[in-house]
This record gives sequence, structure tokens and C-alpha cells, in this order.
Amino acid sequence: MQHITILGSTGSIGTSTLDVVARHPDKFGVVALTANSQVDLLFRQCQQFKPRYAVLLDEAAAGQLRQRVREAGMGTEVLSGMAALEQVAVLPEVDAVMAAIVGAAGLRPTLAAARAGKKILLANKEILVMAGSVFMDAIRASGSILLPIDSEHNAIFQALPCGYDGNLAANGVRRILLTASGGPFRNTPLDELQNVTPEQACAHPNWVMGRKISVDSASMMNKGLEVIEAHWLFNASADDIQVVIHPQSVIHSLVEYVDGSVLAQLGNPDMRTPIAYALAYPQRMEAGVEPLDLFKVATLDFVAPDFERFPCLALAYQALRAAGTAPALLNAANEVAVAAFLDKQISFLAIPRVIEAVLNALPVDAVECLEDVLGADAQARGAAQQQIRKIK
Ligand code: NDP
Repeated sequence: MQHITILGSTGSIGTSTLDVVARHPDKFGVVALTANSQVDLLFRQCQQFKPRYAVLLDEAAAGQLRQRVREAGMGTEVLSGMAALEQVAVLPEVDAVMAAIVGAAGLRPTLAAARAGKKILLANKEILVMAGSVFMDAIRASGSILLPIDSEHNAIFQALPCGYDGNLAANGVRRILLTASGGPFRNTPLDELQNVTPEQACAHPNWVMGRKISVDSASMMNKGLEVIEAHWLFNASADDIQVVIHPQSVIHSLVEYVDGSVLAQLGNPDMRTPIAYALAYPQRMEAGVEPLDLFKVATLDFVAPDFERFPCLALAYQALRAAGTAPALLNAANEVAVAAFLDKQISFLAIPRVIEAVLNALPVDAVECLEDVLGADAQARGAAQQQIRKIK
């Protein structure tokens, strides 16, 4: 029996994780569920999974949940705040932590879990983007197991040799091919991109996801963040990682070897596959995912990415090459710009303009510790807000 904490249980990844867990009550016990402010859904999840703890970042929301839990006579203890998120990530009885909070907010609890040696199932890619060196050092120091949930990185993990030691060349790997659907605006005329709405940006052709990652997918910043994520997970340089547009989202990524072999992982676009893989690792278990019907798929297309259409992807490569705090600046500026776009304060095309202005305005420093990352993050958020005020 594996005991798990799910950080961000009310989100898209969180609910898919609970869907998989519910299929295997003999294998998993839920110790803690967490969210930001969604009381109703977290309450229903508590009724079904009976966790020992439920945490809401928002104190007022936690008060409401506490009352409902008490009235229903349930045994779940309700906590609130960032310290509580960290607390439930490091409990001695917890074996594995699903990191499925969106954005920089997930950094502290997930880092705490890594330091405590928990098995980490990592969906929250922004953690590696902003604090890759600090996070990977924590994983190495505690000896914890890190399993990628992002479907592309999960595919690469599966296509690399078992027990891959972080040396691509020594394992005969020529490069990593990171697939991307190209999002909803892959073929939209460039002059129409100025006026696209948040609703259009969130209507992904293949995946149902949270709003922030949906916008990131539409701008291809998501792929840029994934390039940086792959750098940290697999010790790959920017030149080792080739992005390939593959609109069907059936091949989740590939690894090319020096002998000409290319290993790919395929499946229907359903996050329950990588979630079940990581939960059951190193075994396999049923995930509720429809089998892949190759005859129905019939055709697989591949196109090189267009950096002019997707400047966010170019900015991410630029930040990876600049190293140090540059990816943290990129990530923070992107989070602020995406929130402003979702709030209809700026246009879709202003997102890369804000990020570029922030990268140009702020110095890139070396990352020695978490404080360096948090300092860069705060600076970039301020600079991005300033930029947005100028644009509005
Ligand atoms: P969602 O927006 O659907 O869910 C986010 C979760 O995090 C919710 O539970 C939310 O709580 C919680 N949350 C949000 N802000 C905070 C905060 N400040 N403090 C604490 N908790 C917070 O996101 P997704 O599930 O789509 O994505 C989660 C992560 O997984 C992201 O990093 C994303 O990039 C990554 N990912 C997602 C994929 C997908 O298919 N969705 C695929 C691959 C990676 P509440 O509901 O109360 O707001």
C-alpha cells in the first residue's frame, strides 16, 4: 500500500490522479489533499477518499471546509496556509507526493517533499524551470525518486535506458525529440492572433487542461518550459533537445540513438497514462485509458516549429542558454503575463512582448540557493506588472 499526498487535487492533474487512485483502492491510500480555494470539490474529494488532512491555501475557504467537514461528521483535519502545504508533503506516513499545483506556488511544498526523500511525481513543471538546480540537488541529496508526469517527459523517461544515469552520450543518445501539438493557433493567420480571446486560447484541440497551461500551450511557452524541464530531468543541453510539432498528440516524445534507432512512446492523449505509470512504477497498472487504435489514427504528421509564430518558444531557449536566474525570470514574467491575458488586460500577442521586456531589463545572476531564485522571481513579477501597465 502506497500512501500519497496530492498537492493541487482539485485541478486537472489532481482529479485525473484521483480517478486512477480510485481504480486501485488496494494499492493506494490518500493521506492529504490540497487546493487553493475550491471548497466544494475538495469537500467531495474528502467524502470519497477520506484523507487524514485537507489543506486550502486560502484561510477563509479553509474555515468553510472545516465547518462542512465537522457537520458531516468526517474525520479529516482541515488546515490552511503555505506552512500546512509543506507539512502534509513531509509527513512520515507519506510515501509519494503528486506535485500538481500550477505555477511557482508549488515550489515550497514540493521542495520540502524532495528534501524529505519522498517519491515525487512531478507535474508542476514550473518548479524545475525556476529552481532546477536547487530542486535536483535536493533530490540527489535525499536520494528520492523523481518521476515526470508531463506526458512528453514521461515518454522520454520510458524511452531512455532503464536506470538512466544522466549521461546522454554514454548511453548512446544522439538527441531528444520533444513533441508538441502546436496548440489551437498552429494554423491561425498571424494577423488574427492579435484578437484571440482567452476562451479560444483555452480550447486545446487534444488535451483538457487547466487555464494557465492551456494558454502556455497556445503560445508554445509550454513547450519552452518543457525544454527547460527536459534539461534538468535528463541532463540535456538546449542543443540536445529538438521540438517537433506533431498535431495528433499520439507520439508523446522520442529518443534518438547513435545507431539510428528512434524509440517513441505512443498512446491516446490522456494524462491518466503517465500518472498511472508513475504511481505504479516500476510496475504497470490499468489506468482507465482507451486503447490506442492505430487504424483510427491512420496518419501521423511532423512539422518543424515556427519561431516567428511562437516567439515564446525562442525566449525559453534563450533563457535556458543564458542559465542562472534567466529561466526563473522567464517563468515569473510568463505567469504574470498569462494571468493578465486571462483577465483580458493584455492581448495574446503581448504575452511574449512582456516576457522579452523583462528578460532585457533584468540582470541574470548565478543560482546558489533558493533565495536567489525567489529574489529573481519577485523582481520579474514586479517588472512584468510594470510592463503590463505600460501596454494597457
Ligand atoms: P489546474 O489549474 O487545473 O489546477 C491547479 C491546482 O493547483 C488546483 O488544485 C488549484 O486549487 C491549486 N492551486 C492553484 N494555485 C495555488 C496556490 N497559489 N497555492 C496552492 N494551490 C494552488 O492546473 P493543471 O492541473 O492543469 O496543472 C497543474 C500543473 O501540472 C501545472 O504546472 C501544469 O503545467 C502541469 N501539467 C498539467 C497537465 C494537464 O494536462 N493539465 C499536463 C502536464 C503538466 P484550486 O482548484 O482551489 O484553484
